[in-house]
Amino acid sequence: MEKISVNIDGQDILAQKGATILETALANKIYIPHLCYHPDLRPAGSCRLCLVEMDNGKLVTSCRTLIKEGMVIKTKSPGVDIARRPVVEMIIANHHMDCKNCAKKGQCELQRVRAYMKIDKKSIERLRLPQEELPKDLSNPFFERDHNKCVLCGICVRTCQEIQKVSAIDFAGRGNNTKIAAFGDKPIAESRCESCGECVIRCPVGALVSKSLRRPTTEVKTICPYCGVGCGIFLGTKDNELVSVRGDSSNPVNNGNLCVKGRFGMGFVHSPDRLQNPMIRQGKGTGTGKDNPPSPLPDGWQAGPFSKGGENGFGEVSWDEALTTVAKKLKKYKGEEFAIIASAKCTNEENYIAQKFARVVMGSNNIDTSVRLCHGPSIAALHSINSFLWQRGDKGDFKDEIEKASCILIAGANITRSHPVLGLRVKKAVENGARLIVINPTEIDICRFAEIWLKPYPGTDLALIMGMCKVVVDEEAHDNSFIERHVDKFDDFKESLEDFSLGRVERITGVSRDVVEEAARIFAKGKPSAVLWDTGITQYSQGTNNVLSLINLSILTGNIKHSSGLIPLWGQNNALGTCDMGCLPDFYPGYQPVADPEIRKKFETSWGKGLNTKPGLTLTEILDATLEGKIKALYIIGHDLFSGVAPSKKVKGALEKAKFIVFQDIFYNETANFAHVMLPAASFAEKEGTFTNTERRIQKINKALEPVGNSLPDWQIICDLARRLDSNGFDFNGIEDIMSEISSITAEADLPAQQERFSLTPLQYKPPAEISDIDYPLILTTERDIYSEGFLSKKVEGLNILRTKEFININPKDAADFEIKDGEMARVISRWGEISGEARLTGATPTGLITMDLLEEKINQLINPVLDPISKTPETKICAVRIVPQKESQHDE
Ligand code: SF4
Ligand code: SF4
Ligand code: SF4
Repeated sequence: MEKISVNIDGQDILAQKGATILETALANKIYIPHLCYHPDLRPAGSCRLCLVEMDNGKLVTSCRTLIKEGMVIKTKSPGVDIARRPVVEMIIANHHMDCKNCAKKGQCELQRVRAYMKIDKKSIERLRLPQEELPKDLSNPFFERDHNKCVLCGICVRTCQEIQKVSAIDFAGRGNNTKIAAFGDKPIAESRCESCGECVIRCPVGALVSKSLRRPTTEVKTICPYCGVGCGIFLGTKDNELVSVRGDSSNPVNNGNLCVKGRFGMGFVHSPDRLQNPMIRQGKGTGTGKDNPPSPLPDGWQAGPFSKGGENGFGEVSWDEALTTVAKKLKKYKGEEFAIIASAKCTNEENYIAQKFARVVMGSNNIDTSVRLCHGPSIAALHSINSFLWQRGDKGDFKDEIEKASCILIAGANITRSHPVLGLRVKKAVENGARLIVINPTEIDICRFAEIWLKPYPGTDLALIMGMCKVVVDEEAHDNSFIERHVDKFDDFKESLEDFSLGRVERITGVSRDVVEEAARIFAKGKPSAVLWDTGITQYSQGTNNVLSLINLSILTGNIKHSSGLIPLWGQNNALGTCDMGCLPDFYPGYQPVADPEIRKKFETSWGKGLNTKPGLTLTEILDATLEGKIKALYIIGHDLFSGVAPSKKVKGALEKAKFIVFQDIFYNETANFAHVMLPAASFAEKEGTFTNTERRIQKINKALEPVGNSLPDWQIICDLARRLDSNGFDFNGIEDIMSEISSITAEADLPAQQERFSLTPLQYKPPAEISDIDYPLILTTERDIYSEGFLSKKVEGLNILRTKEFININPKDAADFEIKDGEMARVISRWGEISGEARLTGATPTGLITMDLLEEKINQLINPVLDPISKTPETKICAVRIVPQKESQHDE
């Protein structure tokens, strides 16, 4: 970077070309008063405090003036003081000056300016106008706005516009009545604000402050446990209590940005619902299913503290007693009578140990996770073209892939809700010129930024994307030289495209042919491209083929090189790591196939034990086998099977049928109702390990707190249990030991840095399994809510307050047909169940559809999903329903 010489206050400085005077001064520890400047934002020059004097006597705002070679600048001079002092005095005179009781005391920019300018209280008293105190906006559960302390610097407004790109707030009113407000002067909680807190952390004074923030004595660098973005955070603690969270600006994943869950959602760590001690179900025949059926929970269970037992209740026991009991029971169910559900919330090391336990100790490959329910098709599709392991890697960088992409295609992903900080990257890329194509049946926030929004009927994405492939080939816009050098089966594929004439595509998808053509042309031209997808693509009975259609488009246009640019949006924080570690029924760690005798031999040698030759069952198959009585013992780690898997009735049946259930988690949940033994696990803040984010970046988590009660890290519990079952190979001193075993065992699975051959996959369109008919004429599709993510968010009071009310969104035309009125209660009835909610009439929902932001346990009451035959992922994205006014249905009863 070119340097130039300037002189500030008599000091010669070699400065960065392109920097402003203010940036140069601050970088050289020369203070210039300022209020509206923030290094992350474009300069506004509105507070007029950062005036400096040039050698010709002219005053300029230093935040907006670029340095030039030879500039001579004075930050202090009588001229500067005459101009600056009255401005500062007026700001202070209009400010609520109760500094002693302000959360920002000692860190307030106004206090700093006042001290620098040596302004005493008396000198401004004459300027104070009698003013009415404005009420604080306390509506947001996480932060408050005190208008009386606001200096109208506009930093919050610009943060919301420039960084968050939400524009929830703006200047309102005039003159002395100017204030910052949400649209229509509504309370912030009723605005479009996403509660990210980015404005709060940048407010220079005490006008916007976190409600719960306390100053920590220690900070520990770690990783957010919510979603697959994997943002870096610092957990602040005091007396073994979590008191603050801030974004880690040195982490390349988020550069300090956080969403509401990362910034304000860590309260679950201290939830009263944490399991603190091992527990065993009491009563006769403990733990033997039939003679000890699961009982209703004793009073006090939901809210904790937990029951100390009684007939068929749970009683606290020592670790020794609990693990001895579990070991004794599990001895009876070795082999295929045993299954383990591992957790995408746990660390890589813990998941490695979980699958080793299943295979080595229990002799079973029946191990799977909830990833099956979301991204089973992504794993299956990427694996089928041998592309899974090449996906990025430690040097992976979706920030780069997205921000440098010239075209971004987002399919079936409500990214700003499900992966908010990644959503920021997309918005930034669009601002920098990337062309954005969105495929989604309903209008979602990211559509605001799209050049083209393709709105197919739910479940018809494959036809749409293959239609785009046809346009690319017909118009010879494919990357011929890439295809000639690297792609197999191009001619077969080309022939298969005959099935996707644009007339047929239009009939299937409802998207007009010219829009399909335009989108295909934009995508073909846009190199490099990035393709992002989520459950709107995968959670269908054709989920794997849906993903393959996206891969086809990427290969055709020569965008797939080394699989970069293909970004499945893994939901949970360690979803990808869980699969990498071998928590899959058909793969050992590193996606080494269980069915391959050579590979199996290698693992048998490393683990010193003969292994089961038969690939195991997937999560959905495990539940079926349990219901049939083939699987008798379940070890459920960190997942609420009962609430999280559809259909609820079947899951309940399976859990009731199991003869022995070990439940290991940080909280009690609905699944615990069915357990025989409960083992309390430590939370992410209380242990060490690694998480792998959605770009396959392995990141270290660090212990900030001592574990609650007698809880322990999952890996320690499983290893102790393995030793009690007389197995060797579970004596680890720490996570480093486990990681080195993982490295040694997966080393041979490392693949060459570059994949040379790719196959295009001919595909056929099949409609989704759930289709509407005369009795169920509408299709219900669901969206994720930004404030929900599994069961962690449910334990955070503020997130529960903000969670979207479960509106039934319906197009006014359909509402008229079904006599549904805006704001009135209605019932949504499927072939399998029903739910009720308040109807909201909105044009954002196309006719023929109903959309809801539902918690998964509710969705699971409505559906009986068909599985994708390849990945065994259930079709949970859509459901045929009818809607009736609540009153009418009550009348019917
Ligand atoms: S919290 Fe986030 S979304 Fe809400 S006003 Fe502040 S910056 Fe905007
Ligand atoms: S609330 Fe804070 S950031 Fe926003 S204008 Fe007022 S002082 Fe500036
Ligand atoms: S985007 Fe995901 S990882 Fe980042 S703060 Fe939000 S929930 Fe946490």
